[in-house]
Amino acid sequence: MNDYSDELLTELFWKSSLRIAVVDSRAHIILTSKAFRDSFPQMVGIAEDGSEVLGFSNDEEYESYFERLAALPPGDRFSFLIKLSFAGVETIFRIETASLHSKRDNNPVFLTEWIPADDPETISRALTEIEHKYRNLQENLPVGIYRGTGNGLLQTANSALIRMMGFDSFEDLQNASLEDVWVDTEQRAAMIELLRKEGSVLDYEVHLRRKNGDELIASFDARGFFDAEGTLVYFDTIVQDITQRVQAKMELEHLARTDGLTGLFNRQYLIEKFEEEIVRAKRYDRPLTAMLIDLDYFKVVNDTHGHLAGDAVLVSAVSSITGILRETDFAGRYGGEEFCVVMPETDIQGAEELAERLRIAMEKTHHILPDGSTLCITCSIGVTEVSSGSVKETIALADSALYIAKRSGRNRVQLKRRSWI
Ligand code: GH3
Ligand code: MG
Ligand code: MG
Repeated sequence: MNDYSDELLTELFWKSSLRIAVVDSRAHIILTSKAFRDSFPQMVGIAEDGSEVLGFSNDEEYESYFERLAALPPGDRFSFLIKLSFAGVETIFRIETASLHSKRDNNPVFLTEWIPADDPETISRALTEIEHKYRNLQENLPVGIYRGTGNGLLQTANSALIRMMGFDSFEDLQNASLEDVWVDTEQRAAMIELLRKEGSVLDYEVHLRRKNGDELIASFDARGFFDAEGTLVYFDTIVQDITQRVQAKMELEHLARTDGLTGLFNRQYLIEKFEEEIVRAKRYDRPLTAMLIDLDYFKVVNDTHGHLAGDAVLVSAVSSITGILRETDFAGRYGGEEFCVVMPETDIQGAEELAERLRIAMEKTHHILPDGSTLCITCSIGVTEVSSGSVKETIALADSALYIAKRSGRNRVQLKRRSWI
């Protein structure tokens, strides 16, 4: 060999019409033909030290290829099948690998030739192998995976999904009807519709039913596959059981909007809900009224019987209130012993009647104290109708009515009409 040999070799290699690459056992690329680079730009990666390396898109394939490479005695060769994206099409290639006698930095060097598989037998063998690997992968994943068709057939499901759904086997799950598995089949229809329109769905929340009847909340990530006419043929779905996550979130939301002692809405959530009602009432020009209820001489209860007894009376007074409210009314704890009731679809006469019933119910109730004794308490109520104002203004109106009720002797209902009257 003369001084030009490296350059000549590189050029010869580069110009070869074969898809060839020389690599070492650490996947470093030493030489490639132009044909190789043009065919598989995705196979040439850059390592941390800046050198070029073979980059397989699938780690598992990469590992099994380099395991075979490492075990190859000098002078030997082997053939490896791989699925590659080639000119935009998934194609089966055979990598013919020969171990060379020369070394580079003490690492064995290999000549690889990449040949598209054209004989049906190789292709079908490769597909079976890939299918097998894919199945193994599916079976080992902790999330549920299934393939379904647009018309409701279950084609495949992994064990994680069968377990999650509480079924005994794939056939067992396959035989279940859509009505068995979906709490609401409309939800499935909506998902299929979205898949048809968008091609995929992400983090799609659905309600499913296990074999034993228990419900579970699941998140679906699905991707649809369509034929040339654009008809949905099947879809692959990853299913995650998010029941606990959703329940924990709901509990947190419930805690965040509830008053701990009485279980009523807290002040902040009451205001939010009230705001929504005002928007609705204005939009549809519907009546909306509200009342503020304040317990009379409540301080005396605390002073006489203690704070715990005071708490018990508060809880009991709240049940007297909620026991009388109608389905659409809602109440919140607005202050210490002050409650706000919002009454959608109720005009001022209706609100006054309800307030009066409430006042009488409170007066008649014998609240039971922790020591077993009972106590009666009254309340004063300010009632107002919602005009063009905000929640704040409406509550200020109810509060001024309440103030008059207190001033005129307590245990009374006082009305305050729209502010401009
Ligand atoms: P009025 O008829 O004018 O409303 O008199 P009142 O005594 O009810 O009113 P005041 O505002 O003077 O006192 C309210 C009392 O309610 C004082 C406060 O300690 C008590 N209170 C507020 N929140 C709680 C609570 O969560 N538990 C108990 N036990 N008492 C509470
Ligand atoms: Mg009071
Ligand atoms: Mg008060």
